[in-house]
Parts: sequence; C-alpha cells; structure tokens
Amino acid sequence: MHELACPTCGTSAQYDFKNYLMICPFCSETFKHNVETGEKDPYLDHYIIPNTMAPKAVRDMTLEWLKRLHHNPKMVDKEYVVASVEGLSLPFWAISLEAHTHWTGLAQRRTRIQDHGIGSDFLNESGKFRRTYRWGVNARHNICELWGIARMHEPKEKVLVNWDGFPLDSTFSRGHIEKPQTDRSAYDAKESFEFKFANGLPISGIQVDEETAIRRASQHVDHYHHQIAGLYVDFLVDCRTEVEIAGIQLIHLPFWHVTYYYRPQTALRHFYKPAVKHVLIEGYSSGVLHGELALTRTDKVGVNAIVTGVAAVFLFLLGAIWHPAFFLVAIFSGVISAASLYMSAVKSKVPQMAHSAVDSATDSGGILEARRVEIV
Ligand SMILES: [Zn+2]
Repeated sequence: MHELACPTCGTSAQYDFKNYLMICPFCSETFKHNVETGEKDPYLDHYIIPNTMAPKAVRDMTLEWLKRLHHNPKMVDKEYVVASVEGLSLPFWAISLEAHTHWTGLAQRRTRIQDHGIGSDFLNESGKFRRTYRWGVNARHNICELWGIARMHEPKEKVLVNWDGFPLDSTFSRGHIEKPQTDRSAYDAKESFEFKFANGLPISGIQVDEETAIRRASQHVDHYHHQIAGLYVDFLVDCRTEVEIAGIQLIHLPFWHVTYYYRPQTALRHFYKPAVKHVLIEGYSSGVLHGELALTRTDKVGVNAIVTGVAAVFLFLLGAIWHPAFFLVAIFSGVISAASLYMSAVKSKVPQMAHSAVDSATDSGGILEARRVEIV
C-alpha cells in the first residue's frame, strides 16, 4: 500500500499499486496513476449499477425462489435454512462491439445420391450474420472470486460456453421471479461511480486494463460465433469473425451470493447429508443468475444406493432363515445398490451447478453436464 493524494479533492489515502485504476475513498474519483512519473490521470468512464437490495431482502427472495421450485411450497420455511448472505460490487469492462461472421461448411443431403462416392452426400453451404453486444469482461484477475460469475453467459443457442464474458443486457435481465418494479434496464440505471450507490456492498478494485479486456471480449465473441456457425452445418470448414469495437466503459455491478442447506423433514433425512448449496443474485432488479438445487440427481442416486443396500441385507437374511429364493432378489438388490453407489461417487466429484430461474427445476440436459465439467 502507498500513500497518494487524490487529484480531485487532494485528500491523502492508502492505495494498492497492483490495481490498474485507483478510486479515491473520499470523493469516489477514479484515476490512473503512473508509478514512474507520478502523473495522475482522471478516468471518467467509470459507472456503477446501484445495489437496491439489503441482506434480509436477499434472504427472503432466495426462500421465495425455492418455494417456486418446491413441489410443496409450505415446507420450504421448515426445510431450508439460509446459511450466509454476502454482497459484492465487482468491476466489469462493458465493451460495445459489433461482430460480423462469415462461414462456409458442408451440410449432409437428406437423400443419398447413389454411386457418386462419399463426398457427394454433402452440399456446400455458406452464410453470414452480424450481432451487436455490450459485452461484459471481469476486471478482476480471479474470475472465480464469487461463486457462479465465471459462467454468466447463457445463450439461447445450444452451444457449449467456455468463456467467462457475457452480454450485459440479457444477463442482467434474466432470472426474475417477479416482474421487476422498474422498466429501466440495469445498464440504463447506471450512475457515475460513487461509493454511495453500492448501498453498503464492498467495492472491489480494478485490476485488468482496457486492452486486455478488449482482447478477451473479441476472443469470447469469436468462440461464440464459431459455435453458432457450427449449428448451421454438419462440418464447419471456415469461419471468420471480425469484431469492431465501438466503445468501452467501466461498470461496477452488484452481486449477492447466498448459501443454504436443505434439511428434509421426511424419512429422507436419515439418508440425506445436508450439503451447502449456492445461489447468485444480481442486486439491481433481483434476478437469480445461477442457482443450485438442494436435491440433485446425484443425491437421489445416493439415497437409492443406501435403500437398496439395506434391502439387500434384509433379503439375504430372509433367504437364510426362510426360503432360498430370497437370495436371488437379494443379489439383484445388491447389484443395484453397488451401481448406484458407484454412480453417485463418480458424479459427486463434479461440482453441481444448475441454471438460474424456474426452468432449473428440470435440469439434466447434456449441455449442462458438459458445462459442469468445464468448471472444474
Ligand atoms: Zn478524492
């Protein structure tokens, strides 16, 4: 930490020179500091999306979200315990860009042409598309600092997301469990950066520079468009994306991270080990960006292993004292138990992560499974 005087209000404060930009704790001025020359340049394009939530509201909203997903909403207050609520205002570079993609590829014919060789089954296809984004790139070195923020993009196309950037507008307008009170988008509600708009959330420092952010955004969009192009054809031969940068701004975004436990009241509680689950909420219009469900398929398979295992032992005893036919059923039950145990052991090595919003109740899609693996 080093002491510096703010170029605007002149007040001295301690600053971490590892940060790319400094923020004055007194007047909220953002400035770039050249360590060698001592020069200080105000940075004007720094905004903040106000946090509108308090910890209690976040907690209540998480329980409400669980109620919407639970088959018996009345049980939620008894069975779910919110363990922690933590808020953070994180810096993101918002890069306005336009991406033009040209692609060529081969699409298989519906009907086969006989005797013309394997290659004749395919048609040459080509196309182009253009999209504009306000692309968000994390301005922290550790993109996994907060649970769920490294995979924020949930495209409408069936593609595998392996980038951390995301379109700001569609991301910060998803996952609402109730209609937001305001029609203003999160981006439109941004204010020039001042600490007061965080409404109590800690503000994280800016570590990544614009040049890196623009390069990363271009790579993310290039990957994304490459995958979209791949959906048009069976074999993508060539794909070229040109990215035009229209502008860049720095925006602090409000997040809330909630952890909760599930303690079943039914007979399930004897088999189910409560595990901590996570939910990520945006603090402007209260959308659930990501949410983990308490009872996942892995848990159910684990419970199945125990139940069938107990049954196998019981049936084996019946076979010994009553009729040998029970041995056969015992063996069958034992095999199912062993298989379930194996499946739940394999699955539980991979962190569980469900999509946000209500549709996460039925998650089991192939894409989601693959995405889980990516996170490891
Ligand atoms: Zn100042």
